Amino acid sequence: MTSPFNRRARLALADPRLQQALQGGTGRFGEMRLKAFESAAAPLALRAKAREIRRRTFDDIGRHLDTLLANLRRSGVEVHAAPDAEAARRIIAGICRRSGAKLAVKSKSMASEEIHLNGALEKAGVRPVETDLGEWILQLAGETPSHLVAPALHKTLDQVVDLFRRKVDPGAGRDPEALTALARRALRQEFLTAEVGISGVNFAIAETGTLCLVTNEGNGRLVTTLPRVHIALMGFEKVVPTVEEALTLLAVLPRSGTGQKITSYFTMVSGPRRPGEADGPEEMHLVLLDNGRSRHLGGPFQEAFHCIRCGACQNACPVFQTVGGHAYDSVYGGPIGAILSPMFRGLEAAGEPAAASSLCGACQEACPVLVDIPRMLIEMRGARVAARTVPRAEALAFRAAAWAMRRPALWEFSFRALAQLGRLLPRAGRLGWLPGAAGAWAKGRELPLPARRSFRDRWRERQRGRRPAPVSSPAAQERTPEEMVERLRRQAALGHGLAHGHIASPPDVLPEVDIPDPAARFQQELEAVGGKVFRPASSEEAKAHILDLAGRWPGRPVAVSGGLPLPAGEWLREAGFEVLPPSDAGDGRERLAAAGLGVTGCAWAAAETGTLVLPSGGGSPRLHSLLPEAHLALVREEDVVPHLSALGPRLRERIAREGPSCVSLITGPSRSADIALTLIRGVHGPREVFALLLPRGLA
Ligand code: SF4
Repeated sequence: MTSPFNRRARLALADPRLQQALQGGTGRFGEMRLKAFESAAAPLALRAKAREIRRRTFDDIGRHLDTLLANLRRSGVEVHAAPDAEAARRIIAGICRRSGAKLAVKSKSMASEEIHLNGALEKAGVRPVETDLGEWILQLAGETPSHLVAPALHKTLDQVVDLFRRKVDPGAGRDPEALTALARRALRQEFLTAEVGISGVNFAIAETGTLCLVTNEGNGRLVTTLPRVHIALMGFEKVVPTVEEALTLLAVLPRSGTGQKITSYFTMVSGPRRPGEADGPEEMHLVLLDNGRSRHLGGPFQEAFHCIRCGACQNACPVFQTVGGHAYDSVYGGPIGAILSPMFRGLEAAGEPAAASSLCGACQEACPVLVDIPRMLIEMRGARVAARTVPRAEALAFRAAAWAMRRPALWEFSFRALAQLGRLLPRAGRLGWLPGAAGAWAKGRELPLPARRSFRDRWRERQRGRRPAPVSSPAAQERTPEEMVERLRRQAALGHGLAHGHIASPPDVLPEVDIPDPAARFQQELEAVGGKVFRPASSEEAKAHILDLAGRWPGRPVAVSGGLPLPAGEWLREAGFEVLPPSDAGDGRERLAAAGLGVTGCAWAAAETGTLVLPSGGGSPRLHSLLPEAHLALVREEDVVPHLSALGPRLRERIAREGPSCVSLITGPSRSADIALTLIRGVHGPREVFALLLPRGLA
């Protein structure tokens, strides 16, 4: 009898469009991951550090969670404990009902998929709208995500075009940029009118009580800023002790997930809007989800909690590459999903995919936090056998094999007999058909028969002084020294061959790339991700740049934040522009959404990644860098720090001292590749990002 997983896998194998999408998608993500780690000073040490952070967090998870909850409550966040999916659905629907919400906008959250939140919201009379482009496409199609990072990875461009023509606009063309613009228009209105925003959480920093979102499109920022109520949902495993540790994990997550050094947005939310802030939610909740997690603390699968959901193991897995995520029948597919799903849903309901692995170790080699997935897959198989959830025929076959293996003479004789049998087959050496229940196994593959000369035979010959035949290796296929060196370099950098154990302890202080001129490096990095940096030599030049940029959107207002190092608002008003002051960010959001340019300051900038750091408050609304078509940041050269890691102490101190409800790390324009992996700018946030880098003495 064919198992449910095998049935789904066979359907996937027979779907040429799915095969095309999977091969293109997983292959490209894998390549981008390798390239992204080349920019780290010590990739393997970085991954080992990330791994150590995850391990050490779980040594004292109770204390970190206590600290997190205390800090969140101090900031005005209402924390709810949800022991299971039903409780989480009830809590979230209850908050929506009390808020009088009819519409809830959601940013991508695997936890909300895990608890099947949307159906519960609909039953409660709340219309949930997914706002991540990939998730929105799937909601239109009535489908579920198939990948942790790229939920619509399984959809080809043709399928998306067809969907848009049926559900959005009959005249939709085939250009991914135009399709994205359609989505932007449709979703803007939802953002502006939703009463509730629901998000997931990538990291929850205990020491500051900060919930972090790692996103590219800007929908996460809109969901956590525009609606009056923000609800965050997370499994307790997302806790991270310190800001520095969260930044280290940030250094590996986007590299592994989307091949970026850092995503466009790293949003750090530390509570509802503070007095004096122009925008942000008035009410904020955190729903802390257990749903089967706690029973695995201290057990053989605890290491699965180290996962930071980057999807790299899915891209690297030969099984996932072939059958895709839906074959796993769970929101968590692929190698890590084969562990997480039975942990959360039980062996009976979700244990089968653990058997669908070749145990090649590619998943662990790809994993940024070096989760030992192969070990846990084997443990999960053992647990299935112990719980008797494997089919009877399979259990009998393995029992028979175990019996034979304990009898070496019989074992050797059986293999010799099989090797002889192979000579009689039409395709010598391969067995493509097996009788009875074993037939299902042979349907998708051929069984190589034992070699005519067994290892024992070869060993005996060697002992008699004969040389064994040379063995070919993958390296033998390399044609040039450059190909070989390239492979060795990548393998050394990424710790190829580390699977199953030997990972050195990371150094206390991670090596960093050398940045002799932070300002020049900042310019180089921001421009590499599609931004544009101007370096005026005088205030006249700075003024000319500001007026020129504002003039690119004629007739449209300019949003100008307070506390800027230059009198940009005054210059713009004198030049005849309509200037929207910071207070318009709350009630004047429609007007703000019509703005061409948003002008803000910047607390710090990180040269290594070209990142702008914008804390809320002090006349700096979050929406000024988010709703207008373009964002211009005024950056003082002395505020440019070389590395992202240098931001850690600064962020901690700023959050503790001034308590901004939100700090946004912005790296280039809003972007997405959710339609056929085509990179598009300006999905929800600004299409363009400019920085005016002001030399000392000018600001
Ligand atoms: S197990 Fe590792 S590679 Fe897989 S999704 Fe989690 S962090 Fe990424």
